[in-house]
Amino acid sequence: MSPAPSASRSTTKPKARPKKRKRAKPNPALAWARRLARYRPRLLEDTLEALEGIYGPQVWRRRLDPTSELILTILTQSTADVNAEQAFVALRSAYPSGLAEEDHIPGAGWGGAGLPRGAPPDWAAVEAAPPEELMRVVRPAGLHTQKAPRIQATLRKIREERGDYSLEFLGAMAPLTARDWLSSIPGIGKKTASVLLLFCFNHPLMPIDRHVERVSRRIGLLPPKGPLDVDHDRYLAMLAGAPERSYETHVLLIHHGREICQARNPKHELCPIRHRCRFVDPKAP
Ligand code: SF4
Repeated sequence: MSPAPSASRSTTKPKARPKKRKRAKPNPALAWARRLARYRPRLLEDTLEALEGIYGPQVWRRRLDPTSELILTILTQSTADVNAEQAFVALRSAYPSGLAEEDHIPGAGWGGAGLPRGAPPDWAAVEAAPPEELMRVVRPAGLHTQKAPRIQATLRKIREERGDYSLEFLGAMAPLTARDWLSSIPGIGKKTASVLLLFCFNHPLMPIDRHVERVSRRIGLLPPKGPLDVDHDRYLAMLAGAPERSYETHVLLIHHGREICQARNPKHELCPIRHRCRFVDPKAP
């Protein structure tokens, strides 16, 4: 006979321990904006106020049609704006379109002289041009062996997806959707996409070029190191309460980087935001 089961032995299965809930990864852009608001309140507002005091208020105006803006922005990559202007003028004369002429309204953030009045190039002819020929035309912008195929691939992608070369449809899209659409084109990053969307449609986006980056890191509006991809979104989070200030933020910072806060020998003594700048005082409030 088998022994009777002991009264103390339980037949129920031990309860499974409740699983620890995984914490959602913090959004680095939001985390940065919150940290800045907490430890350095009003830093962005004070910076804009100070810069507006010396450079004046910045009011948005479209500076060029969106397709021209995109190609001009590709031409400005890794070169001075004046060189990109020369290459764009060369495109206009090598591939004339006969379309209506337009003015280039460069505004304070532009580093060149501004394009002369003229019709946009014939984009179909630019796309179909022999690659070596197009390289010769855009040579003044530098990196012509990369920029010419990038321009043709960009125009091809726009035409294949939209049926023509117009980018006016981006104005009706939500800003981040439009940025994603443009960034899906090989060679177009967040910066180039944001330039087009900000300057052509006043979409609240923040392109971070080398001037904006340098000034922002020195003051402490951005952390000492990127990545730049996240920095673009850090600014969106910082401007979440006042997205309509994106244009003036971009233009004032870029202008300050050109005029006073240059890479070499920044003129701290002329700078209206030095009392809050971590480059001159690592403990600045
Ligand atoms: S104080 Fe100097 S480093 Fe700081 S923002 Fe002004 S010019 Fe740039």
